[in-house]
Amino acid sequence: HPTLDTLPVTALKRAGPAMAERLARLGIRTVQDLLFHLPLRYQDRTRVAPIGALRVGDEAVIEGEVLLSEVKLGRRRMLLVRLADGSGGILLRFFYFTAQQQAGFKAGMRLRCFGEVRSGPAMLEMVHPEYRVINGVEAEVVEECLTPVYPATEGVQQYTLRALTQQALDRLTDGLVLQELLPAEILDRLRLPSLDEALAYVHRPPPDAPLAVLQEGRHPAQQRLAFEELLAHHLSLRLLRGKMERLRAPRLEAPGRLGQVLRDDLTFDLTGAQRRVVDEVIQDMRRPHPMHRLVQGDVGSGKTIVAALAVLHAVEAGFQAAVMAPTELLAEQHLQNFRRWLEPLGIEVTWLSGKQPGRARAASLERLAEGASAVAVGTHALFQEGVTFSRLGLIVIDEQHRFGVHQRLALREKGGRDGCYPHQLIMTATPIPRTLAMTAYADLDSSVIDELPPGRTPIETVAVSDTRRAEVVERVRGACRAGCQVYWVCTLIEESDVLQCQAATDTAAQLAAALPGLRVGLLHGRMKSKEKEPVMAAFKRGEIDLLVATTVIEVGVDVPNASLMVIENAERLGLAQLHQLRGRVGRGSRKSTCVLMYHAPLSADGRARLAVLRETNDGFEIARRDLELRGPGEVLGTRQSGMLQLHIADLLRDQALMPKVEQAARLLLERYPERVPRLINRWLGEAARYGEV
Ligand code: ADP
Ligand code: MG
Repeated sequence: HPTLDTLPVTALKRAGPAMAERLARLGIRTVQDLLFHLPLRYQDRTRVAPIGALRVGDEAVIEGEVLLSEVKLGRRRMLLVRLADGSGGILLRFFYFTAQQQAGFKAGMRLRCFGEVRSGPAMLEMVHPEYRVINGVEAEVVEECLTPVYPATEGVQQYTLRALTQQALDRLTDGLVLQELLPAEILDRLRLPSLDEALAYVHRPPPDAPLAVLQEGRHPAQQRLAFEELLAHHLSLRLLRGKMERLRAPRLEAPGRLGQVLRDDLTFDLTGAQRRVVDEVIQDMRRPHPMHRLVQGDVGSGKTIVAALAVLHAVEAGFQAAVMAPTELLAEQHLQNFRRWLEPLGIEVTWLSGKQPGRARAASLERLAEGASAVAVGTHALFQEGVTFSRLGLIVIDEQHRFGVHQRLALREKGGRDGCYPHQLIMTATPIPRTLAMTAYADLDSSVIDELPPGRTPIETVAVSDTRRAEVVERVRGACRAGCQVYWVCTLIEESDVLQCQAATDTAAQLAAALPGLRVGLLHGRMKSKEKEPVMAAFKRGEIDLLVATTVIEVGVDVPNASLMVIENAERLGLAQLHQLRGRVGRGSRKSTCVLMYHAPLSADGRARLAVLRETNDGFEIARRDLELRGPGEVLGTRQSGMLQLHIADLLRDQALMPKVEQAARLLLERYPERVPRLINRWLGEAARYGEV
């Protein structure tokens, strides 16, 4: 039998070369692609709705008698037509109309219309409905099934897509085969409909189909397709992971003497969770294949020391390590920590940043290239052209959520040499909800630091309107008098960097004037490292009481004596970012407070975000709520969602499918491996090749 996955769309009527080109923009090249171009939503044109039963937002077919038609002059000329059917009345509103159209509406004539119901000043309305005049009694109903609405593009109209999908569906029943790739045992166990049934239903739902269930994507036919799609994504990452596992990496063997010295020197004991994760990481690095491990740990859980112990292991094994951070400030903090921990052990730590002057950079590069320096710490610049290591064994990427999946894959390539790749340790404080982890991050192993160091007191979070700013300033005064240190975070989202820094500068001046006697410091993103460093150092030493800063302090800043944080315009920030910022306090034994200052009125979303922060300090819970509030695309970041162009599945709605998807993936890989590439190609098409960066 010929199969539809290779049959080009041009085999269909009305799909000439020009149309084929336009269809290609929608990712449609074969008849199979067309069948997997799934409706976004549905319209019910199968029955005529009584006008009296319409609600705002409905899309409906109505039929009624024209009572009145008039052109209203005013700021905007428009044609208004009143229609009634005995159950109620509605207004049709046209902004664009011809004289002929205008003359066509006559009182007493019958019209059938389709459109979206809106609320108008006097009554319900339809703006520019589709309509036609009905002569005599016309009993036949407009459509035999629910009308699908497809993702479209310029030059490819809905009716074209409907006509083409209809031909493709007809081919399906004509004996042309679209291979069922899910094994029968899975379909039976999960009680899923067959592929043909599911596709036929989703493209042409019968008139009695439950519209609300369909619109939500919860119908078994849709769930069957969503399941297959999630499975395809999951499998593609499993394959990627398999490929990575076959790569070679240096075995990092070391007795662990240096690590022990560092542990003995620390002023604290590692938590159980830290010890476990360090062990997992070291086990990975002993294998001759590259580690790809994601360490998730809430803000303040102590990821840095875990990274340092991993780095020490690599160095003791005779290799170099690179530590990357997303911001200059965070990288500088790491530099300080790593120098403090590693230099007493005779290990040289080299600084690499984009802002470094040419001479200094050249010197750093040379130390790394000849292997004189064992550890490099820096921002992205670390991996720009021209950086070579003599024996790179480990890459640590901190706060991975700032780097996209593609960057991560590119990094893998860049670090490799002669088919041998460095180990990778990825750390994030933005926990990745399970569904996302299993689709977007299925190529990584993961460890969780699920324990905070002892002696931390929970942070109390309050939301306060900015009309009470004076009270908040008093609170700052009180805290500083009691010997605490305070952060004041200025935010100006969507404004320029320049304006943001200006706002912080102004705020610092105002606060200094309002709080005489307090030592006020300022930190923002446009300051040079040389200017930032002394401010941070002074704040650390307790020589600054109040640090006014932009969100540059979001990550990495670590001053245990700071126990009050004020965040201005908190309603404008996302949950993850607020949680990160708040994590700068609550690091010492003193009770800490975070004041979220907002500008009223709050949007429903803003209110929900602030409520979540007041209710919980748990980063995982916050991530879960974030996913609910914003949806997966946003949570992953636009760059990262590039790999997750889902046709029908929804990571949030379909979470419950994930464990079954995982089981099915295992079964397919074991018993039906030949189906795996076909499944991936069917759903990911070109995107699958992304995985091969
Ligand atoms: P994050 O996971 O947010 O990167 P850090 O690594 O910055 O956390 O650690 C936060 C603070 O906790 C630092 O001051 C660090 O020295 C300290 N710390 C880390 N581990 C422990 C521990 N086991 N006991 C006590 N303090 C610790
Ligand atoms: Mg950190």
